[in-house]
Amino acid sequence: MLRLNNIHVYYNHVHALKGVSLEVKKGSIVSLLGANGAGKSTTLKTISLLLKPKEGSYLFEETPMLKMKASDVVKAGIIHCPEGRRVFPLLTVMENLKAGTYIRKDKKQINHDMERVFNYFPRLKERRNQKAGTLSGGEQQMLAIGRSLVGNPKILLLDEPSLGIAPILVKEIFEIIKEINSEGTTILLVEQNANMALDISDYSYVLENGHIALEGRSEELKENPEIRRLYLGG
Ligand code: ATP
Repeated sequence: MLRLNNIHVYYNHVHALKGVSLEVKKGSIVSLLGANGAGKSTTLKTISLLLKPKEGSYLFEETPMLKMKASDVVKAGIIHCPEGRRVFPLLTVMENLKAGTYIRKDKKQINHDMERVFNYFPRLKERRNQKAGTLSGGEQQMLAIGRSLVGNPKILLLDEPSLGIAPILVKEIFEIIKEINSEGTTILLVEQNANMALDISDYSYVLENGHIALEGRSEELKENPEIRRLYLGG
């Protein structure tokens, strides 16, 4: 469904991605693991065309994407849920969700997708008239995911959904990510929480210093001694 081949990205003189190749198959959950600064967020920003690679190719459903604009990416069905729970703090929960539907006109289907989000996250329904800035960190993360979902993604790019969230909520959010996937949305998940990410994903890539150091089926990577030592605490 999505394929990056030999992608090189620079921030001025910093060579942040050094020939990254990866593939996300339709219907799967793929995780992208790696330490701070390995290039995970840069990879997602490249897929969203917020950054332009100097070299390499990028296909989505067989269409070459690198000549397109960032707004075309959203129209193609690629929705990026960025790190750091970027909700609009002064807007209510409902207004934030509506903002996620801006490219859509199919009102009936939008209402259906709003209900779907409230089914996943009943807490958001209870708080639908509350300003997003007053939600807890975990609830803001739920809202950020919900706002991405009402954009009706074919593939959802999730950047660090567990960041700064209490463990019990992390578990809840990961279960919901699995459910979202089982209902047909393909997911590319960036995570530092390697344990959780390997548990829910089908295939994983490990980024190290701008290149893919390891890849494989997640259940096999979980048994890999190097992964265990570096990312799973021994
Ligand atoms: P983290 O989990 O800490 O966000 P990451 O794996 O997502 O890490 P990136 O944010 O993709 O890492 O950063 C990859 C490299 O690019 C790092 O060396 C980082 O310092 C550098 N970098 C990222 N953004 C910029 C920028 N705007 N200007 C210059 N260098 C940047």
